[in-house]
Amino acid sequence: MRNRVSWLLIVACGVARQPAPSSQPQANPDWTEPFPAFKIAGNLYYVGSKGLANYLITTPQGHILINSDLEANVPLIRASVEKLGFKFTDIKILLISHAHWDHDAASDTIKKLTGARYMVMDADVPVVESGGKEDFQYGNSAAMLYPATKVDRVLHDGDEVTLGGTVLVAHLTPGHTKGCTTWTLRVGEAGRSYNVVIVGSPNVNAGYRLVANTAYPGIAADYERTFQVLKALPCDIFLGAHGSYFGLEAKYARLQEAGTGALVDPEGYKKFVSEREQAFRTELAKQKTAP
Ligand SMILES: [Zn+2]
Repeated sequence: MRNRVSWLLIVACGVARQPAPSSQPQANPDWTEPFPAFKIAGNLYYVGSKGLANYLITTPQGHILINSDLEANVPLIRASVEKLGFKFTDIKILLISHAHWDHDAASDTIKKLTGARYMVMDADVPVVESGGKEDFQYGNSAAMLYPATKVDRVLHDGDEVTLGGTVLVAHLTPGHTKGCTTWTLRVGEAGRSYNVVIVGSPNVNAGYRLVANTAYPGIAADYERTFQVLKALPCDIFLGAHGSYFGLEAKYARLQEAGTGALVDPEGYKKFVSEREQAFRTELAKQKTAP
């Protein structure tokens, strides 16, 4: 199992603070390293590993889970949900940040275990339902394929996902994948209300062609759109598909001392989006010069 897991631990989503130097696969042992489950605010909880983020939104009518991760993460997610006092089998809706295997490989397994309805942004649906084979970049990479998973509801930009009084909004933030999705919701804690943004991914992976990409002709324009969308979203609590986007470990440590306030980080969000936009523009200029 360990060997199989190691084989699968290859960078799909880029790392915010560390532009990948080459297109060679990189190991990410922190993807399957357990991380403490904790309450973020209101009915929103962190149930991910150190390297792969999962969010549980609890409601009186059952729960919503964002991201399924690798098969090896399923027992970790389940243990986190149960440690918080909730039932894994009460998950009614499964969502993803985007259709890369580190966020969606175990979706079929989680659907079978919970009976959850799987809701995916329109442009990511062919990728999910082909088990990754329709991905514009990784479709021929055997290690990045996974069980094809039936989507129960196709989402479109701006669609709402509602359950038990909670509303999540699906924002199309494409480029990283064609249907990459940034989720927003409002949560209340101690008499205050917070805007939460869960960033899908603004990263340009190693090997991505931004110019003359026949498999994804509109990729550069899609990234442009993504940065416009991200810059316009009101954000108090900044989260994302990987803990590295928003400084999970440092924020978790501060949360123990300062409570929810430690997670309020509108400036960190703006800085992240701005830094990622600059990285995109630098790469685009480079590729335009020497495509
Ligand atoms: Zn990714």
